[in-house]
Amino acid sequence: MKIKCPYCGFEGEAREFWLMYESVLYVENSNVEKEFRERPPYIICPKCRNGFFLESPYIKFYRKERRV
Ligand SMILES: [Zn+2]
Repeated sequence: MKIKCPYCGFEGEAREFWLMYESVLYVENSNVEKEFRERPPYIICPKCRNGFFLESPYIKFYRKERRV
């Protein structure tokens, strides 16, 4: 799976990027999976250090399951 940075155009494997979940504070409560469904992962580019949300098929899931 390739990820492309929208800022500098750097393209690489997913493992080359830093992955950050906003829900990191909730890890100790074992809510990681639940939080993951509610929020897409936040990716940090290793080259320009800009962060962006990962576009993925999960986002469609996310929108479908989301309650307004
Ligand atoms: Zn970048």
